[in-house]
Parts: sequence; C-alpha cells; structure tokens
Amino acid sequence: MSLRFYNTLTQELEEFSPAEGKTVRMYTCGPTVYHYVHIGNFRTFTFQDILRRTLIARGYVMDHVMNITDVEDKIIRNAMAAGQTLKEYTSQYTQAFLDDSALLRLQRPERLVFATEHIDDMAAAIGKLAASSHTYVSEGSTYFRIGSFPEYGKLSHTNFSGNIAGARVQVDEYDKDDARDFVLWKAQKPGEPGWETPLGPGRPGWHIECSVMAMKYLGETIDIHTGGVDLIFPHHENEIAQSEALTGKRFVRYWMHAQHLMVEGQKMSKSLGNFYTLRDIVERGYQPESIRYLLASSQYNKQLNFTFDGLKAAATSIERLRNFDLRLKNDRLAAGLNAEMEERSARALADFHAGLDDDLNTADALAAIFEYVREANTALDAGQFLAGNVASAGRLLAEFDAIFEVLKPTGTAGSLSDAEIAGLVEERAKAKKSKNFARADGIRNELLEKGVVLEDTKDGVRWKRK
Ligand code: AMP
Ligand code: ZN
Repeated sequence: MSLRFYNTLTQELEEFSPAEGKTVRMYTCGPTVYHYVHIGNFRTFTFQDILRRTLIARGYVMDHVMNITDVEDKIIRNAMAAGQTLKEYTSQYTQAFLDDSALLRLQRPERLVFATEHIDDMAAAIGKLAASSHTYVSEGSTYFRIGSFPEYGKLSHTNFSGNIAGARVQVDEYDKDDARDFVLWKAQKPGEPGWETPLGPGRPGWHIECSVMAMKYLGETIDIHTGGVDLIFPHHENEIAQSEALTGKRFVRYWMHAQHLMVEGQKMSKSLGNFYTLRDIVERGYQPESIRYLLASSQYNKQLNFTFDGLKAAATSIERLRNFDLRLKNDRLAAGLNAEMEERSARALADFHAGLDDDLNTADALAAIFEYVREANTALDAGQFLAGNVASAGRLLAEFDAIFEVLKPTGTAGSLSDAEIAGLVEERAKAKKSKNFARADGIRNELLEKGVVLEDTKDGVRWKRK
C-alpha cells in the first residue's frame, strides 16, 4: 500500500508523492519563543516527528524547515519589561525549546530559521505585493487587501464574500479597509524595537514570515506544510494569500494539521492556564519517553485528552516492550524456528506499516505491535518461541523504534563519568569557538540524553546531572 495523507485543502485522503524525486520539502510553523513551550504544542511537534520518520522509513530524504518566531507583540512587551534585548530574551526560550525537543527525541529539522534574520527578505516581499496592488498603508502600517485575492478562504473552506461587506461596520475600530485584512508590516511605536526598511521603520507581521522563509528555502511550491488546527485560520489562509499573490503558483501541495491536546474538554493553551510544560512532567517523576509515547500513540487528526492516568498507561506500554526486548536478549531458547511465529512477525510488520501508511494511524500501527508481543510472550512461556525467531522479532522492534523511539531509557543510556562529561563539555566549547554549531548542539543533545544538563553562565559552562 502506498502512503496516504488527509489534505486539509482538498478535504480528501490523497496518495503522497513529492513534486520532485525523493526529496520532501516540508515547512513547519515553529514556536513563538516568549515562554516555555507546553506539551499541547509538543503534540503538534511530535506529529511532525512521526511524519518525518515515516517518510524517511519510506526512503524519502527530508528538507524540512522550521521557523522560530522571535519577534512578536508579547515578546516585545516581555523583553522590554525585563530590560533585555529581543535576542537576549528569546534565546533562552529558543534553547529551552531545543532542549525539550531533544528530550522528546524529536528529530531536528534540516533548517531552523529565525524571523529576525529575514527582515529584508520580508520587506522585499511586501514591496512586491505593494507593486501588484495587494496592499494598502494605514498610519504607517502595511496591510494585505483580502479582496485582492478571490480564493481567500479555500483552506478553511469559508466563504467570505458575504462577510466582507458586513464586516465593514468594524472598519474604524481596526483601522483597516476590511476587518479581515491583516497586517504585513507594523509601524514602529515609540520605545519599541524596529527595523529601517523601505516600508518605513517597523517590524513584520507574523504571517509574512512563514511565507517568506518557506519559499526562500524550499521554493515557490512546497510539498507539505504542517501545524496545529488552530493555525488553519487565519494564519495558513493568510500564508496562502500572500504566497500565491506573489508567485501565481500553488503554495503547498499537502496541508496537514494536528488536532489539539485537550484538558477536561478544553484545548491546552497558555491563555487558559491549563497547561503543563515538559519540565513540569519530568519533575513529577515521569520519563520524557512516556510523554513522547502518549503524544504519538493516537492518530494526529483526533483530539487527545491529557490525563496522568494516560501518561501512566503510556509508561506501562513502554515497559511491556522493553521487557519483551530483554527477553529476546536474555531468555535461553531452544534451537530451531517456529514457522508460525515467523508468519506472525511478518504480518505484524506489514500491519504496522499499513497503519502508518493510512494517514499516520499510529493507534493501528501500535495495535499490530502489541498483538504480536502478547502472542510472542505466550509462545516464550510455552517454549514455542525458538532461537530462530529472535531475528524477525528484533527487526520488528527496530522498525517500530525507528518511528516511535521509546525503547532506550533516558538517562541510563550508558552513564558518563565526571571526567567524560568534562571532556565533552570542553569539546563542545572548542566546537562553538570554531563555529561548528552542529557538533556543539550534537554534544549538548548527547549529554541531555544521558541525563546531563548544561548551563551557560558568565563564568563559562556549568553542568549538572538531572
Ligand atoms: P504557537 O507557539 O502558539 O504558535 O504554537 C506552536 C504550535 O503548537 C502550533 O502548530 C499550534 O497549532 C500548536 N498547538 C498549540 N496548542 C496546541 C494544543 N493544545 N494541542 C496541539 N497543538 C497545539
Ligand atoms: Zn507559520
């Protein structure tokens, strides 16, 4: 069977293939770094990780871009209140996001790009939109004129033609020609940071950053764009309007959106205050891989209710798989090969992949694994699982773990001596000095995996065990 994804744009399950060759050009809306990211956000980032890993397992090569939104109203407000520059303020939360992502074993996208490093690209794109009459200026800010893009609403499947006239009542309040027009460039207010560009002093709106960075690195038409469902409207609708108004080409071939992580019937969100960060969960004694498993184990397009009972059940599921893995390694097995068990493992492997192929139905994929493990454990107890059956069982677990990656426990993956840690810390400092940031990040992540946290202080790097 082939890989199929539900496309929000067409509202259909579609067979997936990239536009060109084996490379998948994918864009993910990353976090706004004004706070610690919560595990609701991480549900969406975990879905993207499962998506990446499935594509890689199918032989594709990823070119995946994720942005970091490091300029935005709340960031500016908080940085000013803390007496810090934007960069000082955001870099701590960017690093926390990367550390948490590493603890959750999320593969790092091929490119991580920062909004503040692309201001000129954004100003140029807005200039082009202005030249083709898609914008207007009001009190120094530049807006996108939605009426200039007749297909507006095609992603969220909303018909705006009636709403637009009705919305005019609000025009004065929003200072826009149409209440749904959105800002591309915000005029600088006294005391706020801003950039000098041909658009006047100011800063970009949120929507333009994703269009510009996606197209800069991935081309005018990209294969997959992901995010949570709350981004469909207006953010992704606006991304389409800006990008397609600029190029006249389809912006994204497959739009994929993760449903929310819920708490007692409500979306987990910063504004409702009903959220947990990964740090909160780890402090309560849970392993990061339990939360990874919980977030990954139900299909991304269904809402998932967060409970601590669910988290405990996730830990138990991982334990069952680890115990089975240990039995494969340690049980004394009679020689020979049980043909029936071979058939069972082949079927489980096929069902596992068929589940993933079916729009990343991780629940079905996991059911195939657990059914096999239950039967194999029974066969082991009865002496019917033979030495010759170990290889195919091991392969099944390996292919499972290439996607879910929960078998290796955090912090016990080979403990390091103080001298070894000090050696790695020194190597990281040297790598940073010679601008080998990939190696420096790699060492930070390797240490994190082994339960060692690094803190950059004024006197250099300090480390501690978790
Ligand atoms: P933000 O930093 O608010 O832009 O969010 C980062 C990502 O997390 C976006 O893709 C959001 O759609 C997603 N997100 C926010 N809240 C939740 C939630 N409760 N469950 C799943 N995804 C979420
Ligand atoms: Zn975005």
